[in-house]
Amino acid sequence: MHEYDDDNIFLKIINHEIPCDKIFENDDFLCFRDIAPQAPIHLLLVSKNKKVPSLANVVKEDASWLGEMIVLSTQIAKDQGLDLSGYRLVINCGHEAGQTVYHLHLHIIGGKKLSGSMT
Ligand code: AMP
Repeated sequence: MHEYDDDNIFLKIINHEIPCDKIFENDDFLCFRDIAPQAPIHLLLVSKNKKVPSLANVVKEDASWLGEMIVLSTQIAKDQGLDLSGYRLVINCGHEAGQTVYHLHLHIIGGKKLSGSMT
């Protein structure tokens, strides 16, 4: 299981140390475009104040903000016009799933017909 590393790139984005292409922000969450999009719309949604590296670190007390994050992602997807066409939410957990940034984040992916493969 990963420890939280304060040097991770998403914390630097949250702290305005490096820029991002911001889509949405409130007191708790920030949503920005993925720098290497895998679809016409590829957004990342992160908590601004929960230093949780990965799903593997989640505990029961995280249920509330994680639930909020998922509900918020549906609103963002709707604002992006994806609610009718469809979209995919992805959370990669750990090395074999391809997680590269250890600040828990939700991918919001859409804007084209996505592959039917989950793997
Ligand atoms: P994951 O592989 O699930 O950890 O996702 C990390 C994502 O962060 C990848 O899709 C990267 O393209 C994206 N990424 C890395 N650095 C940046 C950055 N500076 N701004 C926006 N997205 C980034």
